[in-house]
Amino acid sequence: MTRLLLHICCAPCSASAADVLKNNFDVSFYWFNPNIYDQKEYEIRKENAKRFAKELGVNFYEEDGFIYDGKKWKQESSLICENCYKLRLEKTAKFAKDNNFDAFSTSLLSSPYQKHELIKQISQKLSLEYKIDFVYKDFRPKFYEGKNSLRAKGYYLQKYCGCEKSFQEMLERKNNK
Ligand code: SF4
Repeated sequence: MTRLLLHICCAPCSASAADVLKNNFDVSFYWFNPNIYDQKEYEIRKENAKRFAKELGVNFYEEDGFIYDGKKWKQESSLICENCYKLRLEKTAKFAKDNNFDAFSTSLLSSPYQKHELIKQISQKLSLEYKIDFVYKDFRPKFYEGKNSLRAKGYYLQKYCGCEKSFQEMLERKNNK
C-alpha cells in the first residue's frame, strides 16, 4: 500500500482527510505548524492531533516544538497565507522524501476556510521539486461530518486559523456580533 505522509494542521481537519484516505493509503500524520499563536493554543492543538492519531492507530511525527515568531506573522502582506502554506508543505515534502514515503498530502485541503487551489498548486510544485508524489483529494465535502464527530468525542475545536492576525480577526468578529 502507498505510504502517505499527511501533514496535519489540526485534529478536526485531519478527520475528513483520514476518512477519505484510509482504505487506499498507509497514512502517517506529520505535525509542523509554526504559524500557531500562542503557545497554549499550539500545545492544545498538537495534543488533540496526537490523540486523534492514537485513536486511528497511525504514526505521529512531529517537527520542532513551539517556535512561533511573532514579528514574522504580524507582517502586513498579501502573501502571508501563501508563505504560511509553503513553509509547512515544503517541510512535509522534504520529510516525506527523506523518510522514504511514497507520497504526501495535507489536511489543509479539508477546510472550506482555506485557499484550496493555492494549497493544491503549491503542493504540486513541491512534488516536482522534491520528486515525491503529491496526492490531491478534495476533503471538503466531509469536513463538517469529521468536525462534528470529533466534537461529539470531546476534541478541542479551534476558533481561528492560527496566526496572531487570524486570532485578532476572530476577536473582531466576536465583538461585532
Ligand atoms: S490566516 Fe491561517 S493560513 Fe493565513 S497566515 Fe494565518 S495561520 Fe497561516
